[in-house]
Amino acid sequence: MCGIAAYYSRNEENAAASVVTELYAQQHRGQESGGIAASNGREITVRKAMGYIKEGISGEDLKRLSGRLAIGHVRYPTRGTSDLAMTQPYVIETLSGPIYAIASNGDIVNYEEVAGELRVKGVHFSSKNDGELLGRFIVYYHEREGMEIADAIRLLMRRIKGAYSAVFIARDHLYIFRDGWGFRPLTIGQTADGDVAAASESCAMDLMRCENMREVEPGEVVVVTPSKTYFLSAEDGLIKPVFPIRRHCVFELIYFARPDSSQFGEYVYDVRHKIGARLAAYDEFDADVVVPVPDSANFIAMGYASAKGIPFNMGLIRNHYVGRTFIRPDQNSRDEGVRQKFNPLKDFFNNKRVVLVDDSIVRGTTIRKLVRMVKAVGAREVYLRIGSPPVTHSCYYGIDTPDKETLIANLMNVDEICAYIGADSLKYLTIDDLAKCVKQSDRFCYACFNGNYPLPRTAEQRGSAC
Ligand code: 5GP
Ligand code: MG
Repeated sequence: MCGIAAYYSRNEENAAASVVTELYAQQHRGQESGGIAASNGREITVRKAMGYIKEGISGEDLKRLSGRLAIGHVRYPTRGTSDLAMTQPYVIETLSGPIYAIASNGDIVNYEEVAGELRVKGVHFSSKNDGELLGRFIVYYHEREGMEIADAIRLLMRRIKGAYSAVFIARDHLYIFRDGWGFRPLTIGQTADGDVAAASESCAMDLMRCENMREVEPGEVVVVTPSKTYFLSAEDGLIKPVFPIRRHCVFELIYFARPDSSQFGEYVYDVRHKIGARLAAYDEFDADVVVPVPDSANFIAMGYASAKGIPFNMGLIRNHYVGRTFIRPDQNSRDEGVRQKFNPLKDFFNNKRVVLVDDSIVRGTTIRKLVRMVKAVGAREVYLRIGSPPVTHSCYYGIDTPDKETLIANLMNVDEICAYIGADSLKYLTIDDLAKCVKQSDRFCYACFNGNYPLPRTAEQRGSAC
């Protein structure tokens, strides 16, 4: 998971302020920690902090982070310890000082293989962070083998397999690049003044007042220099990446991205609406109300309700300040977290037949609690509808699905899950119907639902994703 941002200002020394704004808009992509690195063209200043960007980066910090170019990161640790050492941006010191920094979002599947090769060549690593591997790879081939940085990035794209949307600073140059499969989103844009911005999600770019905005193509490298911006496509140059196919993460559209973002050629809210309408087509019955599990299922439930002509209403209220319940280490604390996070409206559910909609079931913690809660406050029937197929496989490309053994759809069939959760009926979206909710369905990765991994990996190969 995680989110990245970059800004190159043509006239002012305060790119970090823009990066902070972009990171606020992407705080949902990671709340564990965050950081910003700014370059004044000669050296890089960095500031990292645990928790939210708003609390972690102060006005004083911003004054110190002066420079025309800056990159930033919000972290959602999928693996690895949660401390500042794992927080990006990652600054690489060389004999010339701190002149390189990188931030990336994704998960590398051949980490050990590539890190091993670099270690043999004398490169040292201070963490197992994927971002550090990408950065050290580029710096090694640039400084020690004399490659242009853009060529080193192309080589990286051939050698390093997995998901990475990344931004890299080298002195006064900014590089923006994305793996050839296009697993994770990445958008760039230009303002009226010629400033260049990049962010994981387009909702962050909206705040940058860009005049034109588009997704970075899979396998593309965008180079921003003090005087110009140029684009190297996957086909340019001597080092040709070998990119078979696009594999965008469909789970971004279902759950992770903000509904006001567009990515992979889709409006996120629109896909969620379509998912809801598809789910509605499965049902013949009448019900009194359609209620989402907020916020992630709001648009799915709206799509369901409007397709069926059943009233949509918010019967569950979410506390936005509880923090993440999903990643809590033990089941008891996850259960308690769900109670703290959601509360039902009084007298709302009395004697109602409720279509309860969530985007996904992972371990089953959230929905089991909620079905019980809604029944305890009077719901007569609870029909549970899920806006994704059963999650049966872990993600190797940056989404935080826990180990296979804890995925409920791996342990039980749909009827058993329904009984365990205590719902009156349960339906999931089928993979075929999910594919019909996007324009180019063959360009997506559905591995968490069907186990068809576009890139194999072994557990030993992984570094610490972000
Ligand atoms: P469960 O409680 O079944 O383990 O998780 C399902 C709930 O968590 C759903 O409400 C869904 O919106 C949310 N969810 C699904 N995947 C993720 C994830 O990777 N991270 C977080 N924080 N929540 C998730
Ligand atoms: Mg949710």
